[in-house]
This record gives sequence, C-alpha cells and structure tokens, in this order.
Amino acid sequence: MGKNKKNVSNVVGAYPTCNACGSRNAVWDAWAEWNIAIKSKKPKPVLKHYICDKCGKDTEVVWELDLEFRKKCIRFLNDALRSGERDNSTVLITSGLKALGDKFIEAACFAVATFDQFSEDNDPYQEHDFGAIDLQGEKLFWKIDTYDQSMSMLSPDPANPKITHRVLTIMLASEY
Ligand SMILES: [Zn+2]
Repeated sequence: MGKNKKNVSNVVGAYPTCNACGSRNAVWDAWAEWNIAIKSKKPKPVLKHYICDKCGKDTEVVWELDLEFRKKCIRFLNDALRSGERDNSTVLITSGLKALGDKFIEAACFAVATFDQFSEDNDPYQEHDFGAIDLQGEKLFWKIDTYDQSMSMLSPDPANPKITHRVLTIMLASEY
C-alpha cells in the first residue's frame, strides 16, 4: 500500500480491491449478532474480513479511488451552490462588486447561476469551480473554494458535502 493510499478508504469514491487478484469484487464478510435480551436493533459485527468474489480468497484489500466519480460529485455540488443550494455554504460578494449596486449584483448572481461556458482553459479538472463573465461592460470572476466545517482548513474531502463548507466568491476581475 503506497503512502498516497493512506486513509483513502474514508473519502467519497473509494472502493476496495482484492490484494491477490486486483478485482473490484472484494466484499465485506461479517456475521452479525443481535442482542435479543435488550432487543438491540443494531447488529454487532463479530467477525469481519474481506473475501474476494472473483478469486475466492480471504483478502487484504487495497483501497482505490474512483476519480471520475469524485469529479462528478464535486461538479454536482459546485453547480448546486451556484444555482441556489445554500446548505453548508457561503456566498461572498466583494466590495468592488457591491459598489456597483443591488441591480448589478442581482444580474451578476443570475449570470453566475446560469454560467455554462466551461472549457479546457477555465475548467481543466471539470469541477466547475471557476468562471469569467462579461456583464454590462464589467469583467467578473466567480470561484468556489472548499473548506472544512470550521473554515480554518481546506476540506479533507471536497466530494463529501457533510464535511465541506463551500464558499462562492463573486468579484470584479480587477479584484482577483
Ligand atoms: Zn481476488
């Protein structure tokens, strides 16, 4: 297991593969035990290991990341924020943009929400986290940054909305 694979099992898009044959069919094999006396509804795992459906071996698993899936999750969450999803997020309007007045801000927010001019140049990772807009003679940028819940560090997993606070900033290009 390489250094870069550390803790990868916790992040969105992680999947276990069989250490012996490399297949994706490593499944979690566990017995569950119910406590009838206290009518516990939570099964208690008493035995747990991975078994490979392909080669049939009990296996150590190697966690791999489905990067395409992660990309889709991040893109979906970024698009949702732009189009009005406000859970776990903040929208920042810079002072330069504010100075142009409410009507202009409203038009800018609408332009950001409906922006779809993504290209290799402005969106190389296909995460929809940046865009440039020409609006009524002004050049604007918008960008999305992903922080942890305390807003003190970057998000450990931007694909996971439960542990990520997204910030959409709309600014004049001259303020970038
Ligand atoms: Zn296998």
